[in-house]
Amino acid sequence: MADWKDLVDGKTSDLLKRAAQCQLELGVEGIIIDGNNIEEKKMSLIANGMVKKRKGGYKSLAAHEKAIHECQNCPLGATRTNFVYGTGNPKAGIIFIGEAPGRDEDLKGEPFVGRAGQLLDKILAAINFGRDEIYIANILKCRPPNNRDPQPDEMRTCMPYLLEQIRLIKPKIICALGRVAAQALLETSTPLGKLRKQWHDFGGIPFLVTYHPAALLRNPAFKKDCWEDVQILRAKYDELTVEK
Ligand code: URA
Repeated sequence: MADWKDLVDGKTSDLLKRAAQCQLELGVEGIIIDGNNIEEKKMSLIANGMVKKRKGGYKSLAAHEKAIHECQNCPLGATRTNFVYGTGNPKAGIIFIGEAPGRDEDLKGEPFVGRAGQLLDKILAAINFGRDEIYIANILKCRPPNNRDPQPDEMRTCMPYLLEQIRLIKPKIICALGRVAAQALLETSTPLGKLRKQWHDFGGIPFLVTYHPAALLRNPAFKKDCWEDVQILRAKYDELTVEK
């Protein structure tokens, strides 16, 4: 494993030194300084009690999923049918992040396969995304009983799994679906209405917030706003992924 001291010198920015130190402290194999300061974000989540320090650094999503799919780190492990890791393209330029699996997802072991998922597919199709181009995951990997809201300690326990997925995929954009995902990832209690319509920064990755598809099923009047959000998302995606 590289020593960060070998990689930085007096001229190297404090930011890079900190990112490298964070990775070293977290036990990440090798030092990665790739422009996405996801490790900085991780340290901020650790500092705020959202994430416990742990060893990290899997080589692939498949290896990560294999290692964690029998997780019993919180009580939801005992009540789930399936661990819902996430699906999509491991090299996706964009990740959509929901809250937690519901009944259908728990039964199938895949995120967003129920009614909300079908609406999400339509939203994605409207901006020319197929599921094979993107990645979808949730804050929680296991279904909360009766679809109740995720508890803070459950999110704290599960968050390292999502951060590792983000680290492995290295998306160019993250889109939070709904208040719970947005507030957990941005470490804020700001209401959804105030989080929308602006780009946030998630460890160097542009981060946009829109409605959860289940909210659109309950309130179809929000669809117009969601349509505006996802057009912004698509335009940014094109800007960041177009071959130059
Ligand atoms: N709602 C979510 O937040 N995630 C799912 O996977 C399904 C419904």
